[in-house]
Amino acid sequence: MIAEGRHIEVRGTVQGVGFRPWIWRLARETGVNGRVSNDSRGVTIEAFGSGKALDTFLDGIRTSPPPAAEIHDLSWSAIPPEDAGEFVIVASRVREGLEVSIPPDLATCTDCLAEIRDPSNRRYRYAFTNCTNCGPRFTIAREVPYDRPGTTMAAFPMCALCRAEYEDPADRRFHAQPNACPECGPMLLALSATGEPIPGMDPLRRASDALRAGLIVAVKGLGGFHLACDAASPDAVARLRRRKRREEKPFAVMVPDLAAAETCARISPAERALLLSTERPIVLLERREDSPIAPDVSADTPLVGLMLPYTPLHHLLLEEAGRPLVMTSGNLSEEPIACGNAEAITRLSGIADGFLVHDREIESRCDDSVTRVIAGRPTVLRRSRGWVPRAIRVEVPFAEPVLACGGHLKNTFCIGLGNGAYIGPHIGDLENMETLAAYEEAIERLQDFLKVRPEVIAHDLHPNYVSTAYARAREGRKIAVQHHHAHVASAIAEHGLDGPVLGVAYDGTGYGNDGTAWGGEILCVEGASCERLGTFRPVNLAGGDAAIREVWRIGLAMLWDAFPDGPPLSQFPLFAGIARHQIDVVGRMLAGRVSTPPARGVGRYFDGFGALFLGRPVSRYEGQIAAAWNSIADESERGSYPFDLDESNDPPELDLRPSIRAAVSDYFAGQSAPAISARFHNTISKATAALVESAFEKAGSLPVVLTGGCFQNDLLARRVVEELAGVSLYLHGRVPPGDGGLALGQAFVASAVVSRGGV
Ligand code: ZN
Ligand code: ZN
Ligand code: FE
Repeated sequence: MIAEGRHIEVRGTVQGVGFRPWIWRLARETGVNGRVSNDSRGVTIEAFGSGKALDTFLDGIRTSPPPAAEIHDLSWSAIPPEDAGEFVIVASRVREGLEVSIPPDLATCTDCLAEIRDPSNRRYRYAFTNCTNCGPRFTIAREVPYDRPGTTMAAFPMCALCRAEYEDPADRRFHAQPNACPECGPMLLALSATGEPIPGMDPLRRASDALRAGLIVAVKGLGGFHLACDAASPDAVARLRRRKRREEKPFAVMVPDLAAAETCARISPAERALLLSTERPIVLLERREDSPIAPDVSADTPLVGLMLPYTPLHHLLLEEAGRPLVMTSGNLSEEPIACGNAEAITRLSGIADGFLVHDREIESRCDDSVTRVIAGRPTVLRRSRGWVPRAIRVEVPFAEPVLACGGHLKNTFCIGLGNGAYIGPHIGDLENMETLAAYEEAIERLQDFLKVRPEVIAHDLHPNYVSTAYARAREGRKIAVQHHHAHVASAIAEHGLDGPVLGVAYDGTGYGNDGTAWGGEILCVEGASCERLGTFRPVNLAGGDAAIREVWRIGLAMLWDAFPDGPPLSQFPLFAGIARHQIDVVGRMLAGRVSTPPARGVGRYFDGFGALFLGRPVSRYEGQIAAAWNSIADESERGSYPFDLDESNDPPELDLRPSIRAAVSDYFAGQSAPAISARFHNTISKATAALVESAFEKAGSLPVVLTGGCFQNDLLARRVVEELAGVSLYLHGRVPPGDGGLALGQAFVASAVVSRGGV
């Protein structure tokens, strides 16, 4: 046998995911000698053996890495053979690195699950069981490199048995930083509604008894507290809504396993894969009519957000409780998720009837991620636990480190560094002090992990966003990025597109270059340049933001626009419930253009149509009526309404007044809301094709990206894809189409501005 040598470099998420022990086992199986080590950018291997053995070894790395590993890059070169003896794992070489070495939190693996269910195992029913393939990572990390002393597990010295596992390369727990057992690790504790410890009874049993009795329990999980209650009990759900002051917004539900999920929702293979992925996100699914879940969990939508347990604690709790559990963020509406024990007791007493806590601290709060299959494609709608702080790889490296501050609602931020875009955890709506503090804290932490303090600060163009104020208060060069330019850029960055791209950016609102609200935009984007090639005729928002809550005002504005001689108001049940003088006041505002800022958001048309044809005057949370209007559509209806494209306007403007008139006459003729909604969706899709075609005439045929919050709407996305058949088309997958993706786009644009020498 002629020995050969190979130097192999593996880049990607390969640390803290059991990669080295797996390499070690693979080397032993394939008869390869040598060594493997972590470095700041990944894993380096020096392998020696026969050419055939080395090929098999490399093939194995390529084709069957551990589930949580993500290989971006595998390269090798020949080196002189060496008689290396046994294959060994050598200590980390930590250099100043460009890539964060902390992996995301990983869902409990099947081996650990088997152990906690095995009465003869020393980890039987132990809620903090983990190994190199699973367990907490990002949420417990205090500093880099990711090592036990730099995590919140530093407080728990390992017992002799755990230590032996930790030090044995052949063990599944070799260098599993959070390794623990009931002898040495964190423990559960039950607390009363006022936060007093309840001694004696098993905390898990106590919590599950309370849940079965219909009570609300605050459960300390991985990235923060959940408020849990029996999802099958209408009373429990109603009580949670009242106490949490969340009247209508859907709650997420955790079910014990896939079989239980199937009883609640219809699940496609792509959705099943999302549910079972190591990220374990919430997956939005079509609820079954005979679902055991109380209807009030997600009242206004045919969807239900389900997730599977992702820590041993959740597995044990779900098994003991024996029913699906509402698991919603432990906060009052619009505040950040609570993560410390004392903080949770202060903020959640009055909501929870009791607490299930533990003594492992959560260093970084991290909400559950949310996903949905959109137009057949698994799409991340909220990118948080399970993904953070994994980088999105970008084709063109960032010109220099960039901090992008994001938007306003459902916000997060992004740090661009090298070829990585690090999107931070979901923060929420930047509307109160608590959220701002959580936002600043999360930015500081990710900067520390990456050992970087960017001097280029990108932010939204909106002068009054809190994130803009934060950006302005920072040292550095500020780059303002228009909202929809950033949306389009986020898709360009996600897909590594080169050259100019036509972006279809549809959302509720975003500050435009002219100071008005945009949101139905056709943009030609190449890096820092952005040309507007189409838009929607604006709707006038009587009273500004008030109209976004009182959507009847949007309905009224659309009618006045489409019927200038006086709309047939008396025939709409919508207006029967609204005081005459209010309708008159708003009518006068619209006629006199007083406090009626124009808004071009496609989302506003969803609001207005929903208000008129569902008879729904008020939206109680962002996007409620738009989502209701979407979900009622009868997909078998393929008709559509007429529209105009005013090419004399610069940019060309899509005029939906003919559609409004046609929908109104449909309505008066007794056409059903599901049919009108379907025709509305089909109309927007055909109008999009017309706008794209008009833009192609100016800019040539370009790749098209669909972006913005409206593309969380599966039906709209599918119809637009159909209408744009033959076009090279990109939809989001790993990056949220909504404002959770904005920061990535801002970082991308800012980098382009910098490399052009713009700042
Ligand atoms: Zn495990
Ligand atoms: Zn132990
Ligand atoms: Fe947006």
